[in-house]
Amino acid sequence: MSKPLSAPVAAFADQGIRWVAITWVNHAGAPLVKVVPLSAFDAAVAVGVGFSPVSDAFRADGAIDPAHGLARPDGDLRLRADPAALALLELGSGWAWAPGERFERSGEPYVGDQRHGCRRQQEQLQQAGVELRAGFELEWLVATADAEGAPQPALPGGPYGADRLVEGLDYATALLDALEAAGIPWLQFHPEYGAGQFELSLAPGTPLEAADRLVHARLVIQRLTRRFGWRCSFSPKPSLERVGNGGHLHLSLQRDGLPLLQGGDGPGGLSDPGAAVLAALLAELPALLALACPLTMSYRRLAPGSWSAPFQVWGIENREAALRLVPALGDGAAAHLELKVVDLAANPYLVLAAVQAVALAGLDEARPLPLPVSGDPAQLPAGAALRLPASLAEASAAFAASALLRQAFGEELHTSLIDSQAAEVRRCAGRDDAELAAADAWWPLVGGLP
Ligand code: GLU
Ligand code: MG
Repeated sequence: MSKPLSAPVAAFADQGIRWVAITWVNHAGAPLVKVVPLSAFDAAVAVGVGFSPVSDAFRADGAIDPAHGLARPDGDLRLRADPAALALLELGSGWAWAPGERFERSGEPYVGDQRHGCRRQQEQLQQAGVELRAGFELEWLVATADAEGAPQPALPGGPYGADRLVEGLDYATALLDALEAAGIPWLQFHPEYGAGQFELSLAPGTPLEAADRLVHARLVIQRLTRRFGWRCSFSPKPSLERVGNGGHLHLSLQRDGLPLLQGGDGPGGLSDPGAAVLAALLAELPALLALACPLTMSYRRLAPGSWSAPFQVWGIENREAALRLVPALGDGAAAHLELKVVDLAANPYLVLAAVQAVALAGLDEARPLPLPVSGDPAQLPAGAALRLPASLAEASAAFAASALLRQAFGEELHTSLIDSQAAEVRRCAGRDDAELAAADAWWPLVGGLP
């Protein structure tokens, strides 16, 4: 007789679920997967399924970088599914999804696991009485491939246009239905500025929930778009002449139940601890960029005047400031921060692990917050607004030099992330922008179109 299913798994079986796709996101930002039958899900939670550590030596095109410290044939890990996050992948198809974390065969957590790193930082913040809530905004291009394989917008219509919404209303209906069926809470959906571009703002949650939600939502969007015969691109720059896709991160903080980014007499009503968090994030931005913008192509998106905010400044409601404070006003909404530089090639677990570590360090040891910048930082006198790193090599050097992030990730994970950044720099060396944009045009379709 087979073992009885746990209650949550039995409930999924009753809904016709037969298979579970268990994902984790590697250093290159690609979601990787193993599938188990639903009847084996409880074992996938308790014991896990095999995954070689070499998968973190994959480059963004899926090739193993031979110079990466993890490019070794030995060792094995167990990917354990998180049962609390088990959710539908696609209605009516028998597929469910769950995020996983990798463990050593001894049962110890694997120090290189990205989701585990995010969980550890979440626990540390909680121990300090602080709760960070996060939510991603996703932008993507809905496209078909032209004769050269380059993305061509699949839907006409203008920026934020009701014309584009109505042209694609069947797509929008199916997409919003699919998100609801998958249990992905969202706040807002719209046609974005770029031709054929759409945006979805996900509801905030704990850092783990926010990162899981992003991974899940991208899979649902990718699947649904394919069903319409189109493809979606989450590439930071699907082609050089098109608008980029951002993955802006919204953050709010509470300490002992009280909102931290408001109620003070700092600019925008910032409290002293809120200002300390902002100052720490601002100071660590060059290093954070290596995680938030991990592709060479990411830096083609980060151009002044494109609302991707490539300056190391903060501002109140300023969309060209890397950190935008949205202050609390009369409408009762709590103040929050938007980190605009993040793109969707980033591993969201790593970004949120780092952001939490920086926030906690800021609260522990406050440093002065510079004045906010209003208007376009690119128009300020030379030197008044520091440009953020303009290449991955530059951001990676800042990441390598960050004692704070080295300590937060631990020596092993920090070093292996630097290896992955170097692998991306090597992958792109000697290739021009047009060639690279074409190679990554369909991200996260690893390796592009055949
Ligand atoms: N597409 C822009 C980016 O690359 C963002 C536009 C907006 O502000 O929503 O981040
Ligand atoms: Mg947008």
